[in-house]
Amino acid sequence: MIKILFAAQPSDWLVYEKELISAFSNCDLKVQLTTDVNAYDVEYIIYSPSCDIKNFQKYPRLKAVMSLWAGVEHIANNPTIDVPLCRMVDMELTDGMVEYVTGHVLRYHLGLDFHTNHQDGVWRNEVVPPLAKQRNVCILGLGELGTACAIALTNFKFNVCGWSRTKRKIHNVRCYHGANGYVKALTHAEILVLLLPLTSSTSGILDSASLSHMPEGAMIINPGRGHLIEDEALINSINEGHIRHATLDVFREEPLPPDHFYWNSNNVTVTPHIASTTRVKSASESIAANIKIGESGKPFLHAVNRQQGY
Ligand code: NDP
Repeated sequence: MIKILFAAQPSDWLVYEKELISAFSNCDLKVQLTTDVNAYDVEYIIYSPSCDIKNFQKYPRLKAVMSLWAGVEHIANNPTIDVPLCRMVDMELTDGMVEYVTGHVLRYHLGLDFHTNHQDGVWRNEVVPPLAKQRNVCILGLGELGTACAIALTNFKFNVCGWSRTKRKIHNVRCYHGANGYVKALTHAEILVLLLPLTSSTSGILDSASLSHMPEGAMIINPGRGHLIEDEALINSINEGHIRHATLDVFREEPLPPDHFYWNSNNVTVTPHIASTTRVKSASESIAANIKIGESGKPFLHAVNRQQGY
């Protein structure tokens, strides 16, 4: 019997309990899954940042920590974890992000806001959008989510480039990497999508210097993390008209305070960290499948590189 601690909010337990039990059963794993188990017995922790565990050393039999979230900035640097820490990677989470990013890229590309905001009886047909193949989209971060979004956008024939830490190869996507590739990627960013994890290397990466490399009138979509952007630099760039519009899903402070510039700017769309949420059923299946892999002696999938922080 594998002992698993579910460490999240009581409201999460209400929605996850049934699906996790069913997922473990479908994987033929016999588990004791609870929110309260003797620390000495715990073999796995299913973890949400909303729980209050800081010291993982009190679980001497711990084999792995399974994060319910794709972003692990809250826990990646926790020095008390000396077992694999696995990120949430799940097809439905990816599908959600692809839909969010594709939707907002198409919205920008087609200039839909202009028509939505001008339902005033005036026939304005001067501006016809270019075709997708004439539009440059740049994705910062070519991991699970960035790659899936890049592929979806190339299927619409967008001219897509992307940037990652290490060299990547993706069909029909110009891939840049490392410090040298960063500016090259930004100069192509008529529409920029941020899908980097938050680490010490990426915090504040979109600063005034980065913004200045982007084309005049560029648009930004950030479903990555709020701290990737230097807010003051973005606000200045929007006020100067260099950045035309930003769609922001994540913020340095969440919920975003009601009086924040972003809520009140016509050049910013705020979405409340809903770009892609962890879907209970498929996430439960992913966790159960990963524990099954670990129990069979193989390396866990999606283990965080603790040195890199993601
Ligand atoms: P991955 O870890 O799979 O991918 C991260 C990508 O970022 C990789 O391509 C990686 O490069 C690149 N990267 C990391 N550090 C650097 C760096 N210093 N310089 C250049 N590139 C770098 O993450 P996911 O795609 O699964 O998720 C990305 C982020 O999306 C999450 O961390 C989370 O913050 C956010 N997210 C937001 C959600 C929302 O609802 N708003 C939902 C889910 C996730 P390399 O390929 O070389 O490793």
